[in-house]
Amino acid sequence: MSNQFGPDYVRAIAPYQGGKPIAEVAREFGLDEAKITKLASNENPLGMPDSAKQAMLKAMSDIGRYPDSNGFELKAAITAKYAVPQDWITLGNGSNDILELAAHAFVQPAQSVVFAQYSFAVYPLATQAVGARAIVVPAKNFGHDLAAMSKAIAEDTRLVFIANPNNPTGTFLPAKEIEAFLQTVPQNVVVVLDEAYNEYLAPELQYDSIAWVRKYPNLLVSRTLSKAYGLAGLRVGFGIAQPHVTDLLNRIRQPFNVNSLAQAAAIAALNDEEFLKKSARVNAEGYRQLTQAFEAMDLEYVPSFGNFVLVRVGNDDGAGARVNLALLKQGVIVRPVGNYGLPQWLRISIGLPEENAAFIDALKKALA
Ligand SMILES: *Cc1c(COP(=O)(O)O)cnc(C)c1O
Repeated sequence: MSNQFGPDYVRAIAPYQGGKPIAEVAREFGLDEAKITKLASNENPLGMPDSAKQAMLKAMSDIGRYPDSNGFELKAAITAKYAVPQDWITLGNGSNDILELAAHAFVQPAQSVVFAQYSFAVYPLATQAVGARAIVVPAKNFGHDLAAMSKAIAEDTRLVFIANPNNPTGTFLPAKEIEAFLQTVPQNVVVVLDEAYNEYLAPELQYDSIAWVRKYPNLLVSRTLSKAYGLAGLRVGFGIAQPHVTDLLNRIRQPFNVNSLAQAAAIAALNDEEFLKKSARVNAEGYRQLTQAFEAMDLEYVPSFGNFVLVRVGNDDGAGARVNLALLKQGVIVRPVGNYGLPQWLRISIGLPEENAAFIDALKKALA
């Protein structure tokens, strides 16, 4: 008798590798937690907005009750901000949830999903979890090659994932290119446009993806409160699509997938323009600080439009792991990206000025 439970495609899934938790690094390397710098998970270095904290404290008194499964008030906040009807919104336990719901709702085993090489690790995971085939399209200059992705769409393709800006490379697709791509995608293929880092885009790069949702019945835009809004630990995200898409996602969504504290905090954060502005400013300053240091050290990096930078720390395939270990020993946690097929690179989340400085200092020692 076999002791191997479950379908082959589930057993073949390589577990998601997240950023190492601070407590784990402290234990492993015998370091003081307070002296550890974590720049590994693209979290907001400012933490959560105070407005969200106050909203949560208020919501605490009702925690004995189930959350609103339809998230009426949170959807109202999203409706007000993005001018979309309530029935165009799907709430998610983080936007990861939206990505997975899309795979479950639209793809069957033996069908296929298209995404780019060096794009978000959750795309292959969500694809494999439903037993579908991944069509991975080679990257162009570390970003999506949309012309090639369009050509790669097969008869059995039901879903395409696009991240803009992309993680882990930080590349950006101008609006024109995305819209040209959307025009080529067959009507029976859903396109997920994952905009986790949208709020970091400079005003001149911002584009109206919600207008595309009105125009393209097969487009699902996903957003998160985990990055610029500073609520990664709460797990809130949302998808915007026309009702025939939203309806299917909501049928398979867990009824209480967004908890009440998360709903309350998200409403406050969505309305906290000041916090968002500050986050973008701190990020832009940190980006300059890091990239100036990389240039001074003659290190190649990929120009980034997110809250992180991909930097090449050597030209042998052991470089990423080696330099990562040397950084960990100095109490600096960044993200090795060998699992993305980028073994010579590290992804650095942009931190506060003193965190960036601690990293730069440790990197100089690691490379000396
Ligand atoms: C961080 C990230 C997400 C979402 O994370 P959640 O915390 O689940 O909202 C989604 N897509 C990309 C590309 C990301 O980098």
